[in-house]
Amino acid sequence: MMGAGPVPIPDAVAKANTVVINHLGDTMARVIHQVKTMARYVFQTRSNWVLGVAGPGSAAMEMAISNLAWPGTRVLSIVNGFFSQRMAEMAGRVGAEVTTLDVADRQIASLEAVAQAIERTRPAVVTIVHGETSNTVWNRELKEIVQLAKAAGALVVVDAVCTLSTMPLEMDAWGIDVVITGGQKGLSSIPGVSLIAFSDAAWERVRTRTAPNTHWCLDAILAENFWHNAGYHYTAPVSGVLALHEALRLVCTETLEKRFARHLRCSLALQSGVSALGLALYTPQTCRLNSVVGIGLPEGVTAREVCNHISQQYQVEIAGSFGLPIVRIGQMGEQCREHNLFRTVHALGRTMSDLGVKVDLPAGVAALEESLSAGSREARR
Ligand SMILES: *Cc1c(COP(=O)(O)O)cnc(C)c1O
Repeated sequence: MMGAGPVPIPDAVAKANTVVINHLGDTMARVIHQVKTMARYVFQTRSNWVLGVAGPGSAAMEMAISNLAWPGTRVLSIVNGFFSQRMAEMAGRVGAEVTTLDVADRQIASLEAVAQAIERTRPAVVTIVHGETSNTVWNRELKEIVQLAKAAGALVVVDAVCTLSTMPLEMDAWGIDVVITGGQKGLSSIPGVSLIAFSDAAWERVRTRTAPNTHWCLDAILAENFWHNAGYHYTAPVSGVLALHEALRLVCTETLEKRFARHLRCSLALQSGVSALGLALYTPQTCRLNSVVGIGLPEGVTAREVCNHISQQYQVEIAGSFGLPIVRIGQMGEQCREHNLFRTVHALGRTMSDLGVKVDLPAGVAALEESLSAGSREARR
């Protein structure tokens, strides 16, 4: 499972996911308390307003949007691709006045363009993705963009589905108002149970809105009853929450610092292996996402052919990308293990040559090894 999510889960997470407990008892209350405490560390926030969501990352996204925006709310969506576009779409559906800042593929918005768009639209809410999984672009100036938006009085919603716990993100220090994530990517938990954190300012807007959120399940005030008062909202996916609890515990045990270093080291080694095969990385280095690596397709092969062949012949799953001429290899959570990298580079090289593309397989594997061992020498120093 080396695609763009879901990613493999550790045994402890799988085991937790087999257990069903009372959704309202003392044990669940303790689990929820610990999930929030650990999530605060992972989000790097002291905010009280951390909640879980029964649903995919998109449900957390919709929870952010539908609680903060309503008919007439001015929303500026910085659109880098498929997932950041989804936030604009959701804002439109709740009746907000949405303006998009459309950024060209494989590029990030310049700070000037963002400043001008903010000046022009005076948004109450700005949405942006930290890592755009679809075209593998990393919004590396996220912190500066948040500062611009905050200075203009906007609340900032950040999609960190593929980046949370894989790349540094500091909710409080960067001034972010809402961070959302899914379970099945960076956190290496199961799909279907997600997390969201609101800043005090964002929570104040949610608390004081006059018309209630039309999405009953995603109403943050109703959800608070479960996530903060041990009361009933809807029946929580208890097994999934236990799995998430275990996944967060593993992140805390590893520490964010070491986890970021593991992801960086593995992703750079993979990138170097892929390049040495003779294949082209899709995104320029200046805004290249580490969590998901995009690889340009050589002439004459399609993403579907490559993904099918590598799956059937080598039992490695990788992903295409919504019509873009690339395949993607994930580097999130459990995917960032050396044995997975060797198997993947080997399988990708063999697949390409099976399909008639000339690649240098020994050079790819050697570059991977070289990069990993240089990384461990560095780490031992
Ligand atoms: C996967 C992903 C999503 C959507 O998550 P789902 O769980 O499929 O709803 C949103 N944003 C980003 C950046 C993603 O990578």
